[in-house]
Amino acid sequence: MMLPYLIRSRIALFALTTFGWCAALSAQSPSMAPPVALEKLEGKTILLFTPHPDDDAFCCAGTLALLAKRKNNIHIFLYTNDDKGSYDPDMTSERLARIRKAEEETASRLIGIPKENLHWMQFHDGMLEYAAPRDLVEQVTKSIRTYRPDLVMLIDPGSTVVRWHKTDHRMAANNTMDAIRAAEWHLYFPNQRLHDGLQPWHVPMEAFYYVTPADANYWVNIDEVLDLKLDAAAAHVSQWEPSIRKYRADWDPKELEAMKQKLKARAVKKDGHYVEAFRLGTGFSQQ
Ligand SMILES: [Zn+2]
Repeated sequence: MMLPYLIRSRIALFALTTFGWCAALSAQSPSMAPPVALEKLEGKTILLFTPHPDDDAFCCAGTLALLAKRKNNIHIFLYTNDDKGSYDPDMTSERLARIRKAEEETASRLIGIPKENLHWMQFHDGMLEYAAPRDLVEQVTKSIRTYRPDLVMLIDPGSTVVRWHKTDHRMAANNTMDAIRAAEWHLYFPNQRLHDGLQPWHVPMEAFYYVTPADANYWVNIDEVLDLKLDAAAAHVSQWEPSIRKYRADWDPKELEAMKQKLKARAVKKDGHYVEAFRLGTGFSQQ
């Protein structure tokens, strides 16, 4: 769920985050040469943590589609069920959560991730900040130690300052980073080793998404999967006008086409290619 819910803002954020503000980037951020090109990973275990069921599509559907094609084992962890973001006066939170879950399953299937790989943490939309902080870190630490990922993708907490003002985004960013840190030290949550046999795990690589122009240091060319990405974004029907104001489960074909054209027109390219921007990291800040 984005803020605000209006389609105009959604398209703007989609364009900015999905395609990474890339036109403005090249002069500011030196490209980082990762140990292996992110999109070339093959047969690896990848965890993506998303605050809401749609951020993963907006930020990374192209990259995820490329990674799924290369037989990576991708698991999506969804912090919240996104059960608040509708202007429809007849909508209920329970119904909205069911709708958002089905939309996420459709979007994920389109890019090659089965619904069995979606892990719903079941916090309510906007309420992540009020969860017990220790429990929240422990839960994600356990997921990391269980799957022992080669790569974790997470919302960027900001490289030097905390940049998010939207509660779930801020929380998902910081909590996931805190869990990555805890996961490699055996004395954090020792119960996980004693009771569950889970060993510490050092996450070798992070790909932060929703990056600022100054923080981006890696861009994935998504030319070949751009249409898939647009389809995945469109699968979140209830996030868009007119469904967000009066729910309908499907698109009017003309409105769908118009929405896709708007997204495409605003898509920023880098070196003539559609891209998704990331900040790649190889550890956590000790500062
Ligand atoms: Zn969100």
